[in-house]
Amino acid sequence: MEESYGLQNYANGTVVQSVDPVCGMTVEEGHAAGKTEYAGQFYFFCSHDCQKIFEEDPGRYIGQRH
Ligand SMILES: [Zn+2]
Repeated sequence: MEESYGLQNYANGTVVQSVDPVCGMTVEEGHAAGKTEYAGQFYFFCSHDCQKIFEEDPGRYIGQRH
């Protein structure tokens, strides 16, 4: 069945997920389109567009946590 990939992958613990800070999408770190380090932390992106937007103004997307 084709449905065996997707959410079930996460059950075996080998998939690490991050949230794209720009669009809020969940991104598998191994399959992220882009990765940026900012303030000692890595951020993963669903697309190069989101990565570019983030890099232009990172504080806007992570400034919420103080
Ligand atoms: Zn995105």
